[in-house]
Amino acid sequence: MSQANFLWAPQPVPSLPVRGSSQRAPVRRLFFVGRNYHAHAVEMGRPVDKSAERPFYFTKSLDTVVESGATVAYPSGTQNFHFEMELVVVIGKPGFQVPAARAHELIYGYACGLDMTRRDLQLIARDKGRPWDLGKDVEQSSVCSEVVPMPGVVLERGAIELAVNGQTRQKSDLDKLIWNIREIIEDLSQFYELQPGDLIYTGTPEGVGAVLPGDRIGGHVDGVGEVSLTIGPARAEHTARRAA
Ligand code: MN
Repeated sequence: MSQANFLWAPQPVPSLPVRGSSQRAPVRRLFFVGRNYHAHAVEMGRPVDKSAERPFYFTKSLDTVVESGATVAYPSGTQNFHFEMELVVVIGKPGFQVPAARAHELIYGYACGLDMTRRDLQLIARDKGRPWDLGKDVEQSSVCSEVVPMPGVVLERGAIELAVNGQTRQKSDLDKLIWNIREIIEDLSQFYELQPGDLIYTGTPEGVGAVLPGDRIGGHVDGVGEVSLTIGPARAEHTARRAA
């Protein structure tokens, strides 16, 4: 451990519980695949032609990681805070420019995630050709379940669902991913040397929608697990987020 004499306390490394283990998985980076289910791409007004396009990505700050089960404040600056239920791939080995046929070698396991989004700000940014950060890099917006170890396993099907206050809002299947897990790892690793602790949120199916303070979100992916989140009231002005 470094003996550096820091001016203020450095942010601790975010980490996630691991099913069946007393060890936690430290998180390194957060990658998100955009528009990776056809029906969601259509509801966003931007259909995808896989034969002519490649996947695209955005990233979020590590500081946005929140463990499943948390209550988060309704964020500032939005009137349209959306849920997006996603399968999360947990990378466990380094890999650069990995062919699809070897993509499984990088997989440590999976988790269930929520990519919480200021949809109004995301769409303004998108339509003006601006970066998505204010819409996507929202504090406490990268919700993640425990990590489920499945080394080398490539999930190809399985229901993915989300409910708000017990009412189903998203319901699809991993077999509807436009770019599947092998293809995502192959493509993303053209640009980044993937590393243990990198999380890849693989995109959300159709049915995204807004939540309000008091709402309780519950999602699951068959064969992986569950994720939950409660939306709390907006923070009062001029208050600092309580240290974890
Ligand atoms: Mn998403």
